[in-house]
Order: sequence, then C-alpha cells, then structure tokens
Amino acid sequence: MRYVSTRGRAPELGFADVLLAGLATDGGLYVPAEWPTLAPRRPGMTYAERAAQVMAPFVGDDLADLERLCAEAYATFAHPAVVPLTQLDSQHFLMELFHGPTLAFKDVALQLVGRMFDAVLSARQQRVTIVGATSGDTGSAAIDGVKGCANVDIVILYPHGRTSDVQRRQMTTVDSPNVRVVAVDGTFDDCQDLVKAMFADAEFRERMRLSAVNSINWARVMAQVVYYVVATDLLAGPIDVNVPTGNFGNVFAGWVARQLGAPIERLVVASNANDILTRFFHDNDMSTAAVVPSLSPSMDIQVSSNFERLLFEMNGRDGGLTAEQLGRFRATGHLAIEDDQRRRFVDGSFLAARCDDATTLTAMASTYARTGLLIDPHTAVAISAAQQLHGDLHRTVVTMATAHPAKFPEAVERATGVHPPLPAHLADLFDRPERVIRLPNDLAAVQRFVGTTFG
Ligand SMILES: *Cc1c(COP(=O)(O)O)cnc(C)c1O
Repeated sequence: MRYVSTRGRAPELGFADVLLAGLATDGGLYVPAEWPTLAPRRPGMTYAERAAQVMAPFVGDDLADLERLCAEAYATFAHPAVVPLTQLDSQHFLMELFHGPTLAFKDVALQLVGRMFDAVLSARQQRVTIVGATSGDTGSAAIDGVKGCANVDIVILYPHGRTSDVQRRQMTTVDSPNVRVVAVDGTFDDCQDLVKAMFADAEFRERMRLSAVNSINWARVMAQVVYYVVATDLLAGPIDVNVPTGNFGNVFAGWVARQLGAPIERLVVASNANDILTRFFHDNDMSTAAVVPSLSPSMDIQVSSNFERLLFEMNGRDGGLTAEQLGRFRATGHLAIEDDQRRRFVDGSFLAARCDDATTLTAMASTYARTGLLIDPHTAVAISAAQQLHGDLHRTVVTMATAHPAKFPEAVERATGVHPPLPAHLADLFDRPERVIRLPNDLAAVQRFVGTTFG
C-alpha cells in the first residue's frame, strides 16, 4: 500500500515511513492511495485477530509481526472482549472503548502504535525520542503505549497543577527507564510551545531524533477503524454510529470503515460547546471561535486536525485544492467550500449535534436513571446528540463511549450523586509512588533535561 499526502506535494511513502513521519513534508496528512475491501470475519476470531486482518492491507509487507503486535497490544485491556458492547435500549448500544490501561479510547490506537514504532525502529536499528505536551489524556495513553519499548524514549510535558489527580498519576506513576514526565511551571499552551520549539531547533531535533505520536498519525486512525468493523460484525449491520468528536480522528475512522464496505449508514458527529464541526455540517459555516472550556475537555478543540482527511475526499482527492482551501482557512479563520459539493458528500452520510455542559449533565443523569450505567461527560455529549437526532436515526445506533466514568469523577458525581470507583487494575493508583521533574517554562532548561537524560 502506498500513501499520498492530502496536500499533494509530498513523496508517496509506504506504511513504515508514514508511521514514523506522522506529518507529510508538505504539511499534509497521509492517506492510503486507495481504499481496500474488507475481508469477511472468520468465525471465532478474537478482537486482536480481526484487527490484524482488517489492518493487513494497509500495512502490507512493512511489518512482519502484525498479528503478534495486535495480540500483545490488546492483551493489555481489562475486558476479554477488548471493546464490549452494552445495550442501552432496544435500538441503542454503547461500545465501551475505555477498558485499556489509561481508561480512554486513545489506548486502542496507542497500545498498538507504540509497539509498531518499536518493531520498525528495531528492524532499522534506529532509536527515537518522542516529545509531547498534554493537558491530560493523550500523554498518559502515549506513555503507556511505549513504556516497554526498547527503541523509543518519551518525554511528556504537562502544565504543573492544571491536570486532574487521576490524569497526573496515570503519567507520573509509570516506572520505566525510557519514560520521563515533566511538570512545567506554565499553561498547556506553554507546554505546546516548548514542544514546537524543540522540533524547530534543527540541530536538537536531529541529535535527539525527535518524533511524535499525535492524532494525525495515520496508524492511529487505522487502528480505530477496527472497532467500527467489529461493531458491524457483532450487530450484523447496517448501523448508525455516534461519536464524541474533537480532532475528528475517531469519527473519520468510522468513515474509513464504511469505505472498506462495513455496513455503516450514518455517522453522527457530536460536539460540545466548541461546535465548529456542527456548524459546518449544518450550515456550511466553518469559522473558528475561541476555545471554551467544558466538562468534556478532550473535545475542547476548534480546528480539528483530522478534518483535513475528509476535506481531501470531499474535494475528490484534489491535493492542490485542499492546500489552497486550508491556506485561506488559516489566513481568514473561515473555510470556503462549495455548498453543492459539501451536500453531495455529506447528505445521507453525516449528521451533527452540539451539547452544552448543562445538557451533558442531564444526559449523564438520565442515562443513570434509565439504565443504572454511569457514563463519562464525553460519552454523554454523544448520548445527547442521539437524543436530539432521534427522528433521523432509523437503524441500530452504536454510541462510542470514549472514556471510563472514573476518569472524570467530579462531573459524574455532580450529575448522578455517585462517585465512580476506579476499576481494579488502577485501584491502587493513589498508593503508587510518583516520578516527575518540575522545570521552569524555559526552552533551554527543558532541552538540557531531555538531552542529558536521553542524549
Ligand atoms: C480524544 C478524545 C475524544 C476526541 O476524539 P477525536 O478523535 O479527537 O475526535 C473524545 N473523548 C475522549 C475521552 C477523548 O480522550
């Protein structure tokens, strides 16, 4: 399988190079040159076996051990089904994507992608240092995904005092020689700026062989395609899927599953008060606004980086047009796309809805009252979307439950009066020793630390 850039000006690459590169050299995102056809499930397949089968055409000969890597990645999940389905009512299921080591759906991709990095680097006899900034969730999932890797070191920066205790401890209690966690005296934006500055320093970048595993990496999207396929396997589709959305990676994976032939009819894009995507799908109004903090912080995003992949498809895979539209979007804060073209692509495929914090709390409370299930605030945004769009959803609906309720205990307790307990595999989180280094918001200090630790 060859991969092309959404901006049409980067070299075509194979899977292993796309994995390590992340972003294309023209600033675009890599997508497969063509969509393969899904192989039918063989009876009795485990999640890991189905995952290897679904991903095989995307990986090609670039990884020898795909089946073993999948088996190892998904053995870290606390549920034997990996992503079990729970029934909410006769037509509505939850797919629980939060049984991984850090309790959010990002584990599904990062447990596998960490192992893929290690396998490719080992075959090439290379090492990398992953640096990243986190406001909470992604950092812990990335750390957990690479903590056992021989060829990857990782440094994650977070804003001191600004993450929840659960989020911080999920990072700082990992005891592995290739993992360092830095509390920066600053904000999340300061942390992101430090990471960008490290990448912009060419000498440092080369010397440390800096790398990233951010959500635009094709391999992360690819790993997420699998559970959409599994949902249609189990429910014998056609189904509608309903996805709490931030960077658009998760719901785009659902669209890819449909491209491969999985019987998915509608894709519901659920946003919180940061509703740029809902405005686009409803009114062709994609214009940026300031980010508003919400109860579902992992969706507090204005510019969804993976949307570029959908835009490329809407443009009939015209990379030049895509680059031009995105250039104007950056300059003006407004994306101009022909309404006819948008409608032809979106109508009958995508639905969208937004949900503010008050409605999020109501959705958590009413789900608990009706079913006895505690859901996290991100999942609740999607539950509200399904309620709002009830009249347009005619098939079985699968809502993607992206985080465990215990990851957001304050919001869950506020809505339901119940404090969600940590699951058994994390029950001693608050007894484990923390390892963290505190540094000033100063590039030289951070570079010195990274250089002396992993140089
Ligand atoms: C990252 C995240 C999301 C958003 O997913 P995208 O792929 O960025 O759209 C939703 N919910 C939770 C809990 C997350 O961690």
